[in-house]
Amino acid sequence: MKVPFVDFKASVIGDKAAMLAAIERSLDGGSIILGAELAAFESEFAAWCGASHCVGVGNGLDAISFVLRAWGIGPGDEVIVPSQTFVATWLAVSHVGATPVEVDVEPDTVLLDAALIEAAITPRTRAIIPVHLFGQTVDMDSVVAVARRHGLKVIEDAAQAHGALYKGRRAGTLADAAAFSFYPTKNLGALGDAGAITTDDAELAAKLRMLRNYGSTVKYHHDVAGYNSRLDDVQAAVLRVKLRALDEANADRRAAAARYDRMLAGFAPVGGLVTRPDCAHVFHLYVVMVDDRDGVLQRMKARGVDAAIHYPVAPGDQKAYGMAAGRVSAIHGRAAAARALSLPFWPQITQEQQVAVVDALRVAVRREQAA
Ligand SMILES: *Cc1c(COP(=O)(O)O)cnc(C)c1O
Repeated sequence: MKVPFVDFKASVIGDKAAMLAAIERSLDGGSIILGAELAAFESEFAAWCGASHCVGVGNGLDAISFVLRAWGIGPGDEVIVPSQTFVATWLAVSHVGATPVEVDVEPDTVLLDAALIEAAITPRTRAIIPVHLFGQTVDMDSVVAVARRHGLKVIEDAAQAHGALYKGRRAGTLADAAAFSFYPTKNLGALGDAGAITTDDAELAAKLRMLRNYGSTVKYHHDVAGYNSRLDDVQAAVLRVKLRALDEANADRRAAAARYDRMLAGFAPVGGLVTRPDCAHVFHLYVVMVDDRDGVLQRMKARGVDAAIHYPVAPGDQKAYGMAAGRVSAIHGRAAAARALSLPFWPQITQEQQVAVVDALRVAVRREQAA
């Protein structure tokens, strides 16, 4: 049986008739840029997260960098980031002219290790960006406690964690601000690029509204040299419809993840990641750790199973950053980059498809062991 990595029609487009109706509603309302659909989505998403404000922007990368810029972070400043994440977390820091300083991740969750943060703080450190990678939250009490001791800001990178809970509170409400991406394959995805920031800080929200719109609040009057990065109303209309189905989709992801857990239990060559007891995971991805990962992936693909890698190169090892290969700040981040394998995963994946994936994985791993 062939299994795709993601079923694009089922999981990205979903209810096509409802998508088309949403687009039509936006067009009929004359709502295109900074209009009523965006305003409605912003208030609905803020309420869903439990945050006071939501500001829609063009993508998740801008969401992070606009917050850093609004906080006045720039050249000469340092921002703490995890050693393994999608590179956008680091790029956001670079885009404001600041320096990303990496702190290693925990080996069993691939989440920022809060216990290592303090040692990386210098007089130049201004902020910390914990990333809720793969869909579960970082140990935020520990991160926020370190930040408060040192007078640092904290922005959650919640691009993979729409709806994840930490001690009963939703991602997006766990720090000074949070950045979301609505890239089509995210747990909440638009039909194009989109992103948002949530925060309880009204002053920050006002600055972000200015930054996304050429630094302007009054048309043709520009208080700061801002950007053009807005969440389009057509995308907002689509997101409003998808938001209503998100709790159910996240529950389906949890059920599918539990099925994989059961199927893989006791199969020693494949290591699972740990789900933190104080977190409700939303499984943006279902990731396992295997030796000879690239060979395993190739053999699975040869059997028609499209597994994937998130992410094969740690940000500090990218040409854009080129940090020293032997550095101790990325021991676990680099190990995750070498061993992590994302199994085909989307809310509607069937048990039958998952059986085919696990069969292919078992065969691919045994070949590696026999070789
Ligand atoms: C997707 C993602 C981003 C960037 O979001 P875009 O909308 O693609 O710019 C940032 N951080 C993480 C962890 C992501 O997964």
